[in-house]
Amino acid sequence: MKKLVILGGGFAGAKIAKALENKFEVTLIDSKDYYEFTPGILRSIVKPTHLKKIQVIHNHYLKKAKVIVECIKEVSKNYVLTDKSKIKFDYLVIALGSSYNSPFKEKEIIVATRGAHLRKYYKELCKVKNITIVGGGIVGVELAGEISDFYKNKEITLIQKHEKLMERNRNKTISYADNFLRKKGVRIIYEEEMKEYNKKVITTDKGIKIKSDLTFICTGITPNSEPLKKNMSKYLNKREYVNVNKYLQINGYKNIFAAGDITNIKEEKLAQNAECHADIIIKNLKNIESNKPLEKYVPKPRIMIISLGRFNGILQYKNFILTGIIPGILKTFVEWKTMIKYR
Ligand SMILES: Cc1cc2nc3c(=O)[nH]c(=O)nc-3n(C[C@H](O)[C@H](O)[C@H](O)COP(=O)(O)OP(=O)(O)OC[C@H]3O[C@@H](n4cnc5c(N)ncnc54)[C@H](O)[C@@H]3O)c2cc1C
Repeated sequence: MKKLVILGGGFAGAKIAKALENKFEVTLIDSKDYYEFTPGILRSIVKPTHLKKIQVIHNHYLKKAKVIVECIKEVSKNYVLTDKSKIKFDYLVIALGSSYNSPFKEKEIIVATRGAHLRKYYKELCKVKNITIVGGGIVGVELAGEISDFYKNKEITLIQKHEKLMERNRNKTISYADNFLRKKGVRIIYEEEMKEYNKKVITTDKGIKIKSDLTFICTGITPNSEPLKKNMSKYLNKREYVNVNKYLQINGYKNIFAAGDITNIKEEKLAQNAECHADIIIKNLKNIESNKPLEKYVPKPRIMIISLGRFNGILQYKNFILTGIIPGILKTFVEWKTMIKYR
């Protein structure tokens, strides 16, 4: 069997490892020992028992693949270097994803430590009165929805540097989220940025001071492409995302693919997109082995579900928008449907 090495056990990496572990000699390398359904982390912050519904240890869903829990330091065209090992491959999939602020996404952590860390946030959340969310993108909006649903007596402030929440979405989606959060008592400050956070007071760039016992930073993702910089920097774009061709190969290499948030593909960085990349790579690895033509990845608009607490949400697909309890419940269903595949 040919050696397939997969870097990263997120949405893309875990899916490929599971699908191909009987067809290739698969090695999955991840700095954490578990797969986590990231969208469910917001619920886990307000309800820590939820965490066990969204995590599964890599070794539990992989029956044959070898799992190496180590941090990848260097990637080259024929080997991968971690802090402890050098691993050679016939095929490589780079699915190192992206980083986001703590506690939403974490690397180099084991499942037990992750739980303890989130519980610390939960205890803090229960104690404090003033909570600030910096960033009015989807994550900031969903977090405001969760906190305002679970806690009725908190002063929640959301600071958004743009003039709208989730500005890449449809106007109806944006205004529904704005109205919903305001009705829940969330104070939304537009067109201001956090400049300083000192002694539990946030100062914005326009000089407003906001008392904040607990602050969540919900801004910007960065690609985890550091290990590629030494030997493969010419395959990174200016923003350090990995350039891929239409078959999701790194240009010039037939045996090296990249998937998920780390790629330069012009589309929203979404778990669903990472899974669609995984599907194409699964097919293409099989196709290469059986001398069949490769399949192209074509970015497409996806159904987006934005939750606003347990019982409300927004479903958006092109111009179609559905709001209320159905999208709220659908989000939980998507989580269940994804996790069941790894049980
Ligand atoms: C709070 C939040 C909510 C979200 N909600 C949604 C949603 O509702 N719907 C949606 O579609 N998308 C959502 N997303 C986006 C979604 O989580 C990402 O698009 C998705 O995680 C990308 O998957 P991936 O496989 O590319 O990478 P990731 O999930 O980022 O996985 C990368 C893996 O690589 C590992 N890794 C990274 N660097 C190294 C290294 N040097 N050595 C070893 N291992 C390494 C990491 O540990 C991780 O396991 C959300 C994101 C956040 C942060």
